[in-house]
Formats: sequence, structure tokens, C-alpha cells
Amino acid sequence: MKRPAIVWFRRDLRLEDNPALNAAIETGRPIIPVFIWEPDEGGAAAPGSAGRVWLHASLSRLRERLQQRGASLVVRQGESHEELGRLIAETGAVAVYWNRRYEPDIIKRDAAIKESLLGSGIEAISWNGSLLFEPQSMPNKSGRPYQVFTPFWKACLSRGFDPPAAAPAGKFRHPSAAPRSLAIDELGLLPQINWHDPILSAWDVGEAAADRRLRTFADASVADYSTHRDIPGIDGTSALSPHLHFGEIGPRQIVQAVAGTGRGSRGAQVFLSEVGWREFAHHLLFHFPDTARAPLKPDFERFPWEPDDDLLRRWQRGKTGYPIVDAGMRQLWRTGWMHNRVRMIVASFLVKHLLQPWQRGAEWFWDTLVDADLANNTLGWQWTAGCGADAAPFFRVFNPIAQGEKFDPQGDYVRRWIPELAQLPDKSIHQPWTTPAAELEQAGVSIGSDYPAPIVDHKRARTRALMAYDKMRL
Ligand code: FAD
Repeated sequence: MKRPAIVWFRRDLRLEDNPALNAAIETGRPIIPVFIWEPDEGGAAAPGSAGRVWLHASLSRLRERLQQRGASLVVRQGESHEELGRLIAETGAVAVYWNRRYEPDIIKRDAAIKESLLGSGIEAISWNGSLLFEPQSMPNKSGRPYQVFTPFWKACLSRGFDPPAAAPAGKFRHPSAAPRSLAIDELGLLPQINWHDPILSAWDVGEAAADRRLRTFADASVADYSTHRDIPGIDGTSALSPHLHFGEIGPRQIVQAVAGTGRGSRGAQVFLSEVGWREFAHHLLFHFPDTARAPLKPDFERFPWEPDDDLLRRWQRGKTGYPIVDAGMRQLWRTGWMHNRVRMIVASFLVKHLLQPWQRGAEWFWDTLVDADLANNTLGWQWTAGCGADAAPFFRVFNPIAQGEKFDPQGDYVRRWIPELAQLPDKSIHQPWTTPAAELEQAGVSIGSDYPAPIVDHKRARTRALMAYDKMRL
């Protein structure tokens, strides 16, 4: 029997459109699929609490899918390089195949692993499994990285997209004796105190679920995406972000499914451009690797933030007194996800109304989002704080009342996540403190006890934010 090839699964927890898996199968060698849990891998790229919950479920689904094809997932824990070395020694494997990741510390680690494997005579090959265009392959006309989205995406569109590659049919060849494996439970990915059940019941995890979600969205929702995507009270976006982050589905599959619905439709074009923002985020993080921690615009190093643990905590718990902000923070806590429009509102509120450093918001998102993704989260926070590439200018301060009234006009979203406000009339749902006393009583709400009074006054907070911005520019 030929000696085996290891397929190292990482953020590509799927069988379809998986170039590393396909290449391994094409060699005709028995394959050993492995997942290595390295708790601190890649520093800032190590999954947060909600990400670990998703990963636990996703590994279980991957194991089932591999079993259906006659292969068993080997699960290990430890430093990736050492674990791969052990597995090679135990199985006599002659090749290790994987799909690339793009977080700065992971790139360095993987380069070192590749060099060492090649040095010991092991075939080590990596592929692109998670992006439409890899960052190193997309210089702008002057040979430098893009920092503005529109020309970046135009360049992507002009290159055209590769189709996804189907997984080979039939059973996979596997070694006669399966290597030792941990049970997924032994990785300790789930928290000791059970706060994660609501998250898991809000989602269907895994490749099959991602595929179903994509088909339903492409059939029923993408045509309306451009008008529905900003309304958090309706299910108008794809909710594919955690599936994409863990590689349960890849962007080539998304492009193909949406193109089938007529890529010319406005909804499909706008949706694909959002997938383009994901590409742009990876492009930026690759070329500006410090931006997960530091602002891209260096002036912002001098921004006079006013760190305050109490304000941060009230924001985290959804107790700012601004319903659209609090609804978003509560959706995040309950489901591990938040609508994009609301992410922008809550992030802007933390940074501008409360003058908290964007990095503290990014850290909370990192721990609580099931789709926490170093590239997208960094872009989202730097964009909102005005310190990133192609960012919203700092002086454009979102008014949380006006944003609520515009994007949640009947208060459906607020009523869903803040049931104590459910009986308020539409006209004051986004500023409950202005509701006449009789109406408050009728709705059963007492401001200050059932629901907080505003943590800051919007107009004063706006003026303070603009003064802070001016101070930075002195
Ligand atoms: P859809 O609208 O259906 O979009 C399809 C896909 O395109 C998404 O799944 C996502 O992969 C990508 N996408 C959409 N919008 C963006 C965007 N603005 N930037 C980058 N990619 C985008 N997204 C994450 O995946 N992980 C994060 O950690 C993350 N943190 C964010 C933090 C802030 C402060 C902000 C403002 C945005 C953040 N986003 C993040 C981007 C965006 O909010 C989510 O990708 C989106 O809400 C996911 O929902 P969806 O899958 O229904 O998106």
C-alpha cells in the first residue's frame, strides 16, 4: 500500500471545494485527515469563547461527513509542528497538504512548518481554499496594496472568478489502522458554565447547514438584498459569516450559487460586493499586519480616549439606555451574531459617544461573535473608528436615535431583543425616556428601573467626540 498523505484541516472544515483534500485524494494515497487544536495559535487569531463553541460543533459535523466517506478525523492537541511530526512518525506519512490562512502570526508559523517539513523530505504543499483572490496576488497599478475598496473590487471583478472544485465521489482511501485520536470533547472547547445553549440553538452548524443556508438565501433572498440588508428586524442577509469563517463553505461556492440567480441583479451585485469587503479585509490585514492592534492611520495613536471599565461593561451588557444599541448587544450575547447595520451603530457608539478605544470593542466582539474573524473584525472596527482604510470619517457621528428610526422604524428589532420595551409606541421606541409618563405606565416601563436612562446625552457626547478628534489633530 502507498504511504499516506496527511490533510491538515484548519479553517476549511468542509469536503467540497477543498483544494488540499482534492489534491491528496488525487495522489491515490490513503489520506489521514487531522485537526490540531493549538489553544494559543497565532496570538490574536486564537478563537474566542463563542468561536470555540462553534468550532466544537463544526468538528463534530466534519467528523460525521468524513465517516460517511470512510475516513476518520484524527483530532490532536498541542503545538501544530510537533503534532504533525508525531503523526508522520506514527503513520509513515510522506506528505502534508493544507489550505492557507492569512492571519499574520499564522503565516509565519506555517512558513516555518513548511520549511521544516520540506527539510525532512516530506512533501508539504498549501493551497488557497478560502479567498477569491489571495492578497499577494492583487497589487494595485503602482504595485502597492490597495487601500480603497472600489478600485480593489473593480480589479477583482475584471479578473473573473475561479469555479469551485467538487469533492471526488466515493469513499476515500484510508490507512489500514486509524491513528490515535482525541475525542472532540477532550479539547475542552465548550465552557464549563453552560451559557452556550442559546447560541447553538440559534444556528445549524457544519458544511451541510452552510450549503442549505446558501441555497435558501440564493433562491429566496438575494434579489431583495440591496433593500433588505440594512433592516435588522428582517432576515435579509445571508448569515453565512460563521460558516465562511470556519470554512464550512468557501467564497467560490457562494459566487457560483449567486451567479446562478443572475449576477446582473442589483441584489446579487451588492451581495457579491459584501463578499468583496471580506476579500478587502484579508488584503489589508495581510499587507498591514499590525492593524489588528494599531490604527492604520498613525494620527489615531494620539487619540485622547477615556478608558472606563464601567462604561465598557454597560455597553457590553446592553444597558446604555439607547434601545438600538442595547438590542444589538443583547442579540450578540444571545446568538453570537449581530446584524451588520447594528454592528456599525454599536461600534460607533462605543468609540464616539463613550470615547472607549476601538480595540476594547474589538476584543469583546472577538470573544462573543461566532464569526469573529481577525481580518473582518479589524476592518469593521477601524472603519467605524475612522482610523482604517477607506474608513467612515471620524466626524460623521451616528445618531443612535435617528439610526433606529431609519432602519427599525416600527421597532421590530428592538422589541425582539428588549422585551421590556415591547409595549412602547413606535414613535418613542428609540427614545423611551421621551415617552409621556402615562404611556410609560401603560406600557409597564419605568425608566431607570426596568430600562436604563441614557448613559450619555447624544448631543453632548457628539460635541465631546468632535472636540477629542480636534485635539488629536492639533
Ligand atoms: P451578508 O450581508 O450576507 O454578507 C455576506 C458575507 O460577506 C458575510 O458573511 C461576510 O463574510 C462578508 N461581509 C459582509 N459585510 C462585510 C464587511 N463589512 N466586512 C467584511 N466582510 C463582510 N464580519 C465577520 O465575518 N467577522 C467579524 O468579526 C466581523 N466584525 C465586525 C465588526 C464591526 C465593528 C463591523 C462594523 C463589522 C464586522 N463584520 C465582521 C462585518 C459584517 O458585519 C459581517 O460580516 C456580517 O454582518 C455578517 O452577516 P452576514 O453573513 O449575514 O452578511
